[in-house]
Amino acid sequence: MSIRRLSPFMVNQIAAGEVVERPASVVKELVENAIDAEASRIRIEIDKGGHERIEVIDDGNGIVQEELPLALESHATSKITDPCDLDGVATMGFRGEALASITSVARVVVRSRTRDAAEASVIEGEGERREGPKPAAGPVGTSVAVHQLFGRVPARRKFLKSEAAEMRRITRIVHRLTMSHPDIAFTLISNGRTTLELKARKDVRRRILDVMGPELDEHMLDLDVTREGIRLWGLVGLPEVARPTSQHQQFYLNGRPISDRSVSHALREAYRGLIEPSRHPTAVLFLQVEPTRVDVNVHPAKTEVRFRDERLIHSIVRRGVLECLGRSDLTPDLSVAESSPSASTRPLFGSGGRSGGGVRLTPPPVTSVGGGVGKGFDAEAARELARDLSERPAVIPSPVPSSPVLQVHKTFLVTEDEHGMVIIDQHALHERVMFERLLARIESGPLPSQRLLVPEVIDADPIHLEGLEQISPLMERLGLEATPSGPRTIALHAVPVLLFERGVKAGSFLKDLLERAGEGTLSSTDEEEALREVLDMMACKAAVKAGDQLSSRELADLLEMRETVERSSNCPHGRPTSLRLSMEDLERQFGRR
Ligand code: ADP
Ligand code: MG
Repeated sequence: MSIRRLSPFMVNQIAAGEVVERPASVVKELVENAIDAEASRIRIEIDKGGHERIEVIDDGNGIVQEELPLALESHATSKITDPCDLDGVATMGFRGEALASITSVARVVVRSRTRDAAEASVIEGEGERREGPKPAAGPVGTSVAVHQLFGRVPARRKFLKSEAAEMRRITRIVHRLTMSHPDIAFTLISNGRTTLELKARKDVRRRILDVMGPELDEHMLDLDVTREGIRLWGLVGLPEVARPTSQHQQFYLNGRPISDRSVSHALREAYRGLIEPSRHPTAVLFLQVEPTRVDVNVHPAKTEVRFRDERLIHSIVRRGVLECLGRSDLTPDLSVAESSPSASTRPLFGSGGRSGGGVRLTPPPVTSVGGGVGKGFDAEAARELARDLSERPAVIPSPVPSSPVLQVHKTFLVTEDEHGMVIIDQHALHERVMFERLLARIESGPLPSQRLLVPEVIDADPIHLEGLEQISPLMERLGLEATPSGPRTIALHAVPVLLFERGVKAGSFLKDLLERAGEGTLSSTDEEEALREVLDMMACKAAVKAGDQLSSRELADLLEMRETVERSSNCPHGRPTSLRLSMEDLERQFGRR
């Protein structure tokens, strides 16, 4: 077959495969155009999940009659003129191919009127057919109606999901677009029924709460940091509002919604240990990056971007969120889980801790961490850790000095702080404290290790031996040394001092570890992540257990450590280490209020 040039129509139809995947992508393009046209209200009407009709109506700048035909042509845009513009695109669109692509796979009617025009004009296009522009009645602004998406491309129409499923995607995309444009009023109508009505707001926080639910108000922290010319701001949810899916996570780059694996990874890392691994933080994050430091033109729908310095962005997001969470009091209030929905009268966090505004930045009291709980927190390591930690922001509300502590059924500790009564799970707290110490300690080199006089020989399955091979670099960092010593045995030569001193059976710890590694349940792709997982395991094994009687010295030490350790309100698995019963709740329960 000879080589022939494709017709412009064919080119558009092929391009449409990339830009116009489904009704939600059409909605996205049309709403972005309305935003670019500086609309103050945008109305989105959907019939049958967009299979039948998608119409976006705005009160923006409009298109002059002579240019209407151009709007439907590919590579026709009013938004950029020369190549340099590509580096600093400020508008949502710039590729000039959305309307052309949509017109190649649907019947499109554009009606528009500029402020100066006496009347509106309308043009219709479908495939290569054009009708108009001709005069019509209509208000200032633009409406673009898309009928019968993929009506003549049965191969594509087949891929559309049910109306309800497509409508869900549309709603999701509308949510994302509305959150970054609080000053625009939005209405979403599905089959004639209004499903979303958002009035214009002055600030993003209000809009986000309008969309995500006002009940989140007191569970969302404000974040705003600038580092190396990159601004990260938005709202991050407290651990208690983490969700089973990542639907409540939105990222924006210079106002455009993006999805970026590195950013979501950084966010997950920041919450590590605060929420259970199967849950996802709630967060809306905006990144403001100088346009030359990012390439937005790597994806036709512009939802994926390429950062010139991905590691920097990762670290800014991780640290920014971590510090924001660190500044706030994460000890869950018992009344959150219990009855009292009268959330507005909760003075627990009244000292600004939850605002994330940097009120509580005083370094934590770290003077006497040494001395240790139980059998052997070594003092040098503790001091070292204290130094590390003092460079980080504090977390916990200041305790009442030398409050009495009561151990209840060898499991829980009861004490007080400035807000009321605090109940602590002794194992969970100790585990968290050890985890943070280990994590801080391991940054400066392998953990101190204790060599065994006589190697301990352990029975091993093939799965253990396989695991041994996989994680030997990791084991070195942990201060664990083991070698295969026969077809079904492993010899253990050295163990981490911590396990040794805490009387943990190193052999069974090693077997657990190797089994996880061998079965691939350890996050083997990312060494840092795997390391944290193992440190979790170590901390859990080494921590005091429920049922351990603690001496008064140990109790005091444990409580003191609580204040030195970041995020001590949750154990590494995400369960809370402490709960609080506020004075107000107590007073209410006892009928004093
Ligand atoms: P792009 O947005 O990348 O420029 P589109 O195909 O989406 O490309 O739109 C082509 C052009 O049509 C835009 O550059 C703009 O000039 C015009 N246009 C599209 N929608 C609107 C609208 N709602 N209001 C005003 N102008 C619009
Ligand atoms: Mg566009």
